Order: sequence, then structure tokens, then C-alpha cells
Amino acid sequence: MSEGSPSLPSMGEQVGALADRRAEAVPAERSGALAAEQATGEPTTADPTTAGPTTADPTTADPESAARRGPSLSPSRAGDFLTCPLLYRFRVIDRLPEPPSPPALRGTLVHAVLEHLFDRPAGERTFDQAESLLAPEWARMSADDPGLAGLFGTEAEEDVWLAEAAAMLERYFTLEDPRRIEPAHRELCVEADLASGLRVRGYIDRLDVAPDGAMRVVDYKTGAAPPEAFEAQALFQMRFYALVLWRGRGDIPRLLQLMYLGNGEIVRYQPEERDLLATERKVNAIWQAIQRARESRDWRPRPGRLCAWCAHQALCPAFGGTPPPLPEDAPGAPAGETTEGAP
Ligand code: SF4
Repeated sequence: MSEGSPSLPSMGEQVGALADRRAEAVPAERSGALAAEQATGEPTTADPTTAGPTTADPTTADPESAARRGPSLSPSRAGDFLTCPLLYRFRVIDRLPEPPSPPALRGTLVHAVLEHLFDRPAGERTFDQAESLLAPEWARMSADDPGLAGLFGTEAEEDVWLAEAAAMLERYFTLEDPRRIEPAHRELCVEADLASGLRVRGYIDRLDVAPDGAMRVVDYKTGAAPPEAFEAQALFQMRFYALVLWRGRGDIPRLLQLMYLGNGEIVRYQPEERDLLATERKVNAIWQAIQRARESRDWRPRPGRLCAWCAHQALCPAFGGTPPPLPEDAPGAPAGETTEGAP
């Protein structure tokens, strides 16, 4: 599951999903890699060394068909609304473009390499192999979007940026051994319908399924682990995915795992039913608030520390700007959420 928000890297990468600003007491483990391994015995929880791809998975969704089927909400967009309703409007209602930033692009690159690393036979999943994937992946991304090449002023800047991506990959190998893991899914689009009628959906970086069916949701973060105050916000994203899997499959994932490749920390969390019921209530409440804003056409800015990463300051009243007129079909047209894109 990849938070790939292009121009607010801190929202998706540096401080997690930023979906919930309330500090919540959650039984999460936060530690360095070695300590985490020692404390939790990570591989025993869900280390599906023999698991293959799951089949007939009701939660998996083709992104395009999912987008056509009606209103839905992802953790990223829920986080946008909670962070700043006007930001949500700019992204979902106005669909304003956001220029890519080197940190966000680096996150995309590292995610792509980690996804394709698992295409290799288990014995070849080494750091050297991962590093060797960087240049071709970057070449592919540049070919797909020629505008990305202009992101760097000099070749030296690009080299530094690539070296930072390599350092993240190296850090990944201090956290786990991919030779011992066979993911059931990578870059998985999942969705489920809540009893309220709301469809929840998102992209999971990696889903591991143990032989006994136990699921582990893994999310790579290419920023540093968030301060404690933001940890619950990152975990909201993971709970959101757990909710989708639970409502789609009927099983609660055994473990949610955030891997911070910026500083080599892991946050693990074992969800319980009551947590996910609370998450479901919260997701429904967020959606109702979004609907109220849509009907009243009232998308207020909520300035905060993340404004520094916002691509839309020039249009934001909090910074002296003026938002564009709302699109003609804005009121009562929830289809806007259906194509919100990757989380
Ligand atoms: S600059 Fe800040 S307040 Fe304005 S839209 Fe962006 S996040 Fe919201």
C-alpha cells in the first residue's frame, strides 16, 4: 500500500497518512529494526515463506472498474479532508494537477523497485539486485513521463537523489530478508462495501498470507518514522486497510506493519475487532462530513504545518489566494471520489 501523493510527500511519506490528528492510544510497537525482531519475533507472526497468490479474493479490485462503480473513499483522501477540507476539494473536486517533487518521486521509485524485487527468484533478492533495478526503473518512469527529467537541475543532483534511493533500499535490507518472504500480493488494489453503502478502497504495498491464512499488511514509508503524535495517524491508514480486508474477506489481518525506510524503523500493530469497528464509525463520519461540505459548497482551508508541502498555496485564501470557481457539477456529484487515484 503505497501512499503516493505526489506533492505532499510528508502526508504520505514523512508522517504517514495524516488522516487523524487526534492522538490515540494504540498497542503499536515502535522500535529499531533489531529490537523489533527480538521483541516480536516477526517471522512467526506472518512469514509466509510458502504462501502463493490468493485466489477468489473479494477484496481485490481492478482500479479502473472500481473507479467506475460509484463513490468510494481511500485513506489518503480521508486524510486529506481531515487535514484540510480545501485540500480535499482541490484534489478530488477540482482535480488540480500537482507537480512531482523529488522526495515523492523517490518514494515512487523505491516502491517500484521493492515491488519488482519480488519478481526475482527468492535467492536473488539481494541488495545488489535491488540496487541494480534503480536505474532501469527510473528510466522507465522518465520514459512514461518525460517531464520528470526536468526535475533535476544537474546530473549531479540526480545522482544524489538516486543515491538516497539506494540508501533506502539498503535500509530495507536491515529490516527484513526478502529471500524468506513470498508475498501473496504486491501493489494490491482492495475495496469493500460498508453497511452504510460507502465503498472503501485503497492500495496495499504488500500483503503476505501465511499458510494458515493469517494476513500481514505491509506498507513501505520512504520518510522517517513519524513523531509519536503522528504515529496514530499513520496507523489510521493501516486500520483503514485492515477494515477493507475485514469487510471484504471476513478476516481481520493479524498484523499491520509500517516499514520506515528513511530511518530503519518498523511500527507493528495487531488490530482487534473493536479497533476496526471504531475505524468504520470514523470513516463513515468522515464521509458524512465530506458530503455536508459538498452540499454546502463549503470547503474551508485548515492551515497547518503541512501547508509547507501544499502545491496549492497560491489558490488558498489562507495564503491570500482565491480558489477557482467550483466545477459546474460539483454539488451532489460524488463521482469525484471514484477516480481519486492511488492512495
Ligand atoms: S495551503 Fe494549507 S490551508 Fe491551504 S489548501 Fe493547502 S493545506 Fe489547505
